[in-house]
Amino acid sequence: MTAYHIFTPDDALRFADRHSELFGDHSKLSAVEFGDGNLNLVFRVSNDKGTSLIVKQALPYARCVGESWPLSTDRARIEAEVLQQHGRFCPQHTVEVLHFDPALSAILMEDLKQYQILRSELVKGKTFAHLASQMASYLAQTLFYSSDFVLSGPVKKAAVARFINPELCLITEDLFFTDPYCNHERNTIHTLILPRARQLWQDEELQAEVAALKADFLSKPQALLHGDVHSGSIFINADNCKVIDAEFGFYGPIGFDIGSLLGNLLLNYVACPGLFAPEQAEQQQAYLLAQIRELWQQFAAQFSQLMASETQDSALQNSRYQQHFLQQVLADSLGYAGCELIRRTVGLAHVADLEKITDASKRAEAELRAIELGRALIMQRAQLAQMDAVLSLVQQFA
Ligand code: ADP
Ligand code: MG
Ligand code: MG
Ligand code: MG
Repeated sequence: MTAYHIFTPDDALRFADRHSELFGDHSKLSAVEFGDGNLNLVFRVSNDKGTSLIVKQALPYARCVGESWPLSTDRARIEAEVLQQHGRFCPQHTVEVLHFDPALSAILMEDLKQYQILRSELVKGKTFAHLASQMASYLAQTLFYSSDFVLSGPVKKAAVARFINPELCLITEDLFFTDPYCNHERNTIHTLILPRARQLWQDEELQAEVAALKADFLSKPQALLHGDVHSGSIFINADNCKVIDAEFGFYGPIGFDIGSLLGNLLLNYVACPGLFAPEQAEQQQAYLLAQIRELWQQFAAQFSQLMASETQDSALQNSRYQQHFLQQVLADSLGYAGCELIRRTVGLAHVADLEKITDASKRAEAELRAIELGRALIMQRAQLAQMDAVLSLVQQFA
């Protein structure tokens, strides 16, 4: 076993060649580092016949900050194991892991070069009819099959322990639930919306609801989450979509993964008038509303069907309990979507959907819509029992 060292492109090339039969004659391999993420190194290793694989390596620190922000390389194990588990439950929509080396914290995986990052496509005004139905399947299958509905008590507890991910969870605990609601030095806030951000720091009603959502994030191990389902973690093309980058995975509330995706669709929704001419903005917003409706409908239908047919525990087979469970998942999802809208506007990590709006006053208007919609979703999540009511609310922020 080779001891940990930070890969050069040449190291990544040899790692890929050693652990794959795909390349054959390895004298003509080449490698480049091309990661655009915040935390890790990502290499593409290719041969001269167009065959390629991806090598992702965790650094002992956060790439975007440097050595002053140490971070355990165990996140590569979490990422590899979450992707492998999710790959068993939903191979169609999970990037395939070919090899994982724990000492090198390096993952060899399929190259999704036939796909594009969803966020970039949405920012360009591209839409995909299959997005919601495919992501609904991904969420229903990965979340159901890792939950108490199928796992026995002891097996579930062993799984929870295996996916304890304290350092990356702490990043979410801070950036998602804490920083946006106080004057924290990590926050990045454009001047035009500073007055509105300051109101968030005084908003005790909102802070109480965010505290409840954070408490659930800390202590509701319902299923093995991906933990970072934003639209930069989804690759898509005309036929399919696949999820990558599961290093934030842990056992948490099901609504967190659904809410992260909903929140990212809504970030694009509020950005549309700043990104596009009026007619295109209207069309894209209509598309997003339809996708949001379908995402929840199909998730709920599939999860209900799985609960009805595959639940092992006899007490959890109770159909009234199952209905109540799904209702709570919807409320949680709306709450976490609201948190995502707010933290991407006033927190540390912003999104291209808003940042690509070139006109500063239009961008500020979009950011204010994100904050108001986020707040409304968080505050009203328990009353918004039907998707129709959610969509009417969203339309007030067109
Ligand atoms: P980080 O954890 O640092 O955010 P990501 O897993 O999100 O890293 O990867 C960063 C970038 O590397 C992605 O945005 C994408 O451009 C590229 N990438 C990662 N995995 C793959 C893959 N399997 N196929 C093609 N490109 C990939
Ligand atoms: Mg080989
Ligand atoms: Mg990423
Ligand atoms: Mg990542």
